[in-house]
Amino acid sequence: MENKCGECIKPMASEGVYCHGCDKDYHFTCCGVREATYKTKTEEMKLKFKCRVCKEATIGSNMKTEIEELKNALQFHSDTYENMKTEIAELKKENSANKKEIMKMKTENDYLYRELSKLQERVNVMEQKDNLNCVEIHNLPAQPNEDLQEIVETIGSQLQIPAEKNLIKEVYRVQKGKGDYATKTKTKPTTNKKPPVIVVRFADKTLANQWIDKKKTGLSSVNIIGGVQNNDLYINEHLTQHYRDLYWQARITSKKLNYQFVWIKHGYICRERSKLQQTCLSRHLEIKIEVG
Ligand SMILES: [Zn+2]
Ligand SMILES: [Zn+2]
Repeated sequence: MENKCGECIKPMASEGVYCHGCDKDYHFTCCGVREATYKTKTEEMKLKFKCRVCKEATIGSNMKTEIEELKNALQFHSDTYENMKTEIAELKKENSANKKEIMKMKTENDYLYRELSKLQERVNVMEQKDNLNCVEIHNLPAQPNEDLQEIVETIGSQLQIPAEKNLIKEVYRVQKGKGDYATKTKTKPTTNKKPPVIVVRFADKTLANQWIDKKKTGLSSVNIIGGVQNNDLYINEHLTQHYRDLYWQARITSKKLNYQFVWIKHGYICRERSKLQQTCLSRHLEIKIEVG
């Protein structure tokens, strides 16, 4: 059988190029290969030669493979995306549950805080109640070996509110100012301008109130203990640390609000703008102060 060219179907007069894909011979001109170039190729390379048709078939098959791979990759990404969507939905759900839990805890916390505040207030009131039997005597210089009991009796008789020994339950000095207010101090002459305050605990509240009503005693330390210092004595209510702090706050804020006077009477903090406008602030003063 006559050997024909796979491209032009004309006889192969001379040597040509052989395609192992379709098992056909080709004229050099028909397959676009220069004879001189072809002859320089190794046998191995010559075996690899493919005609136009076979080349296109190979390219098509390669493309099919690539498309298949792309499809697989796309499917993988799509699956990943779906999984992430599910995870996000679960996280959202969890987050919403957490938010609810936090809100619940916040409500509980607020409730407990309110209850604690109420209790704290009750404790404050009870502590101050315990102090209602007490008075403070200010400005009396301290002396070595002083007899405070006797001093209180002397002041009582000069104020014309006798306080006999059996009505005085306790009497001691405390150093005011910084540090623990409630700490009793040993009597000793101090270099401070203000002598330690004398705290007197009476047997009952009525007597304490009578003394407090004589706030500005009109007495001088000379009248009581002699000596050279001539201090004006005055009497105050005996406040717990809490009410002392409150009183300080009240004084600061009331000044800003143009109140002329701030004082304490029978456990209440009072303030006055003029003689006509008198306000008694309850123990809820703390809140009012924050607002003011
Ligand atoms: Zn040909
Ligand atoms: Zn071929």
